[in-house]
Amino acid sequence: MNKTKIIATVGPVSNSTEKLEQLIKNGVDVFRINLSYATKEFCLDIKEKLDYLNQKLNTNIALMFDTCGPEVRVGRIHEKEAELITDTKIRIYTDDVLGDQTKFSLDYKRLIKDVNYDTIIKLSNGKVELQVLDKGNDYLLCLVIKGGIVRENSIANILDVDLDLPFISEKDKDFIKFADELNIDFLCLSAVESHEHILEANDLLIDLGNNHMSIIAKIQNEQAITNIDEIINASDGVLISRGDLGIEVPMERIPGIQKTIVSKCQDKGKISIVATEMMASMENNLVPTRAEVSDVANAVLDGTDAVMLSGETTIGKYPVETVIAMEKILESAEHDIEYIEFIDKALKTENKDITGLIAHSVTDAALYLKCKAIFTPTMSGYTARKISRFRPYCPIIAASPDIETVKSLQLYFGVYPILINEPKTIDRVIELSKKHIKDKIDINPKDKYIITGGYPFKEVKYTNFMKIEEM
Ligand code: PGA
Ligand code: MN
Repeated sequence: MNKTKIIATVGPVSNSTEKLEQLIKNGVDVFRINLSYATKEFCLDIKEKLDYLNQKLNTNIALMFDTCGPEVRVGRIHEKEAELITDTKIRIYTDDVLGDQTKFSLDYKRLIKDVNYDTIIKLSNGKVELQVLDKGNDYLLCLVIKGGIVRENSIANILDVDLDLPFISEKDKDFIKFADELNIDFLCLSAVESHEHILEANDLLIDLGNNHMSIIAKIQNEQAITNIDEIINASDGVLISRGDLGIEVPMERIPGIQKTIVSKCQDKGKISIVATEMMASMENNLVPTRAEVSDVANAVLDGTDAVMLSGETTIGKYPVETVIAMEKILESAEHDIEYIEFIDKALKTENKDITGLIAHSVTDAALYLKCKAIFTPTMSGYTARKISRFRPYCPIIAASPDIETVKSLQLYFGVYPILINEPKTIDRVIELSKKHIKDKIDINPKDKYIITGGYPFKEVKYTNFMKIEEM
């Protein structure tokens, strides 16, 4: 039973009921739909299949929608694509023109006003690079620094410019409303730059009367790195979007950025997700490279809550094999975690209220007594999230009568959320804990486990007891 969570993006190679079932059985905790490539029919189909499988398998796998974010796109191009040649000059128009090797348009009206004289514009996922040389009345004159193929309707990255685009486009707004209707669990916001962007999405959810969809901020540009603290504070967690991040900032900065963000998230008790190209070679091969194994393991050792698969499970040849291989790496890396260091680190930033101190005692005791599980009945998930922050050595089985709480806990390190009927007495909790632990974990009569929570249930809003039991 791994403690690091796996998010798998759903795509053409994984959208059948059979494939989704295999992915769940081999360790996927959350499925993601990238709305840049999805229709409402696709979303609805996946949601229905997942509801069916959760029933059938008695699981609580959650679903995440990932917005398109504000985008600037390339206009029409003669024969759909053109090859830009290094060291030539090219014009970018804001009015529609039929593009070719010497010109094309971008669909951002304020382009000429907003860019600077040395602004870098990247195209084709960063493969093509232009630098602004001069501004005309209705065009930018650019130098092609790195040539290559540019396709019609592809995305342009305009570096370090605050674009005057609404953060939530009409298309995204429509999908967020749809996410609310479908009762989606996680909303992942692309290209967040400040906490105001999170608040904007939050306001929209409030208008929709939705108080349970968790908000995950995608960190993929320089502005987000600058404002990382306020973004982490305002959201439920962040996703380190290494693909886009590697276009917007020099790639060699990614490992350091990843470590800093993961550490900050643990300090604040927020979810951290490391994403993109983790097992990329398995899109075509049955085994990962040594470097990929190290990348996944290092994310675990950094203290991340979850790792994510994209191309591997959307277009790759071996989606299920990739998840199996990833689970093995996670399991092995989790043995190498310095748990005591994470516990000490969490204690330093704990505000030392009763819940926090009990969470500390629980994780400390679990580590020293080599406990097999921590069981916690929880209404809001608060106790489970607090314990997760201390990075416990054994899994936390978080039992809630509220399905929305159960799903929201899916991305926290070590937390195994389950749905229960509300228990009335501590004796009933002990009974439930024995049953569910035996169900999930290989456990012997002499093995110890810990029960913790707030009692009387529903009346107290904090954790006030811990009990160490033998099976
Ligand atoms: P995407 O984001 O899958 O939405 O492109 C991932 C990334 O940028 O790393
Ligand atoms: Mn994207």
